[in-house]
Amino acid sequence: MTDRSGARDCESVVRALWDFLDAELDDASAAEIQAHLEACEPCRAHADFERRLLDELLAMRRREADPDALRARIEAALREVEADG
Ligand SMILES: [Zn+2]
Repeated sequence: MTDRSGARDCESVVRALWDFLDAELDDASAAEIQAHLEACEPCRAHADFERRLLDELLAMRRREADPDALRARIEAALREVEADG
């Protein structure tokens, strides 16, 4: 399959997506990925999906920070009750 939408083919773009979204690529590689995404609808959809996934993972980690602290406080309180009883 010939891909004329940029310097990179779809497979190498998909493989580099996480590094691209993490801003871990050098400028030249990031520019190649960016150019490919602008020209290639399937890869753009894939990149959007991965970016949402990444956002969701980060949001999930933030939401879980509070319940963990709460659970630790509850467990500490239970231990105190048990020590008293
Ligand atoms: Zn592509």
